[in-house]
Formats: sequence, structure tokens, C-alpha cells
Amino acid sequence: MPAPLLYESHCHTPLCKHAYGEPDEYAGIALARGFKGITFTCHCPLPDGVSASVRMAPEQFTDYVAMIGATREAFAGRLDVRLGLESDYYPGVEPWLEKLHARVPLSHVLGSIHYQVFHYRKRYFTGSIHRYQEIYFDHLARSAECGLFDTLAHPDLIKNEDPAAWDFARLRPHIERALDRIAATGVAMELNTSGLQKALPEMNPSAAQLVLMRQRDIPVVIGADAHVPQRVGDGYPAALRLLRDAGYDEVSYFIDRQRLTLKISEALASLG
Ligand SMILES: [Zn+2]
Ligand SMILES: [Zn+2]
Repeated sequence: MPAPLLYESHCHTPLCKHAYGEPDEYAGIALARGFKGITFTCHCPLPDGVSASVRMAPEQFTDYVAMIGATREAFAGRLDVRLGLESDYYPGVEPWLEKLHARVPLSHVLGSIHYQVFHYRKRYFTGSIHRYQEIYFDHLARSAECGLFDTLAHPDLIKNEDPAAWDFARLRPHIERALDRIAATGVAMELNTSGLQKALPEMNPSAAQLVLMRQRDIPVVIGADAHVPQRVGDGYPAALRLLRDAGYDEVSYFIDRQRLTLKISEALASLG
């Protein structure tokens, strides 16, 4: 068996009310599938009841930290279990997140724009899907510029809002402008394999966007975004090949908020 090298960098816990299975089960699957470690990145608490039905409550944050700590201990010496967070970005939330991220040492912080959240839609959807798509990419760049995140999660999720209205060629100038701004920050972007199960069934981002990211040397972190244990590590070999086809030869992951890299060929071989 080749030595494990990769981390699963994006997965959830039941605290977000829409994921199932205990952290020990997620870690067990990561171990069985040849991963070196797993970083839990459950949905962050938000202020003022925003999107409260799909995330931990503010007072549950300490339970989350304890829960991942217990799994870390249970797998010590076998699998490196890490505490991370998937934090929502929208303009104005920065001070809340800054305080939250400072409460405990985090290993990997994902920044996510969840356009489907009621509060976000109410504020930014003005009736035009095209305008909504453009706002999404502007906010994506702003999320990198705010400096709170290591990796921008599923960075074309908006394509699922109305797949029939998704036209990459039309949006390309907006996407390129956003990627120029993101590249200037050094923040990484995710290749999220759960996109295959969404309304527009392809990974997030698309192969076409990955090529534009490669042209700007934007680092990429792979995540399965598992909400059930069985999805831990799902699609990693395909994601690595997609990255390679876009011109990348390295894949990134974060430990203690520092970006590390692996050769794609070695990462692929490590999964057996
Ligand atoms: Zn979720
Ligand atoms: Zn997620």
C-alpha cells in the first residue's frame, strides 16, 4: 500500500441540521479510503438568526470544537483529524467572522457564498438571474479580499440557481475579472466534487473555469463536501485528473492555515 498523503478538506457534522452520521464515521471512511487526514468544516454560526435552520447555533460552537477534539483523540496515530470551518460570506458579516475565527485555532477555513440563503437572496436578487450571477462573482472576489478565508468553496455554485440561464461564455469577462482579483490575494479556491449531485451536474467549478484559474496560478484544494460519511473522499481521483487536464501539476491543502502542496501524480498514486 502506498503511504497516505491527501487530506479530505471539506466535510460536515450533524450540528448543521442537514448532515448525517457521527464524525467518527466520517473519519473511519477517510482512513479506509487511504487519506492521511480529514478536516471537519461544518457550517459556521451566523448572527441575527441568519440561515439558522442549516447551521449550528452560536452557543453550539463549543460543542463542535469538543466533538472534533474527541474524534481527533479516537483516531490519534491512525488519521490526522483537524478542526476547520465553512464560514458564509456576505458583505457586512466580516466582524462576526473575525471574532469567531479567533476563538480557537482552526486548521482550514472555507469561505462560502450560499446564494440560496433567504437573507442573501432577499438582499441581492433583483429579478435578473444574469445580474445575480454577476453579483455572485463580485462577492466571490470580495470574499478573497477580506482576508478571512484560506479557500473559496465551490466557487461557481451560482450555476445551480437556474442551470438553463448559465452561459459560461456570456459570464466569462465577469469571471475573469473576479479571478484576477482573487489571484492578487493568494487565496486558494476549491474543486468541490459534490457538484456532480447538484442541479447542474458537474464539479464546482467547471473545467472551463479551472483553466482560467490555472492561467492565474490560483492554488486549488479538493473537497468532497460530505454531508454523509459515505461521501468522504468521493470523486478525488476524478477531481485530480480534472485538475491535471486544466494544466495543474500540484494540488493544495491546509494545515494550521498554512498551504501545503502535493504533486498530482503522487496524490493519485497514494489513493491506490
Ligand atoms: Zn451543507
Ligand atoms: Zn460544505
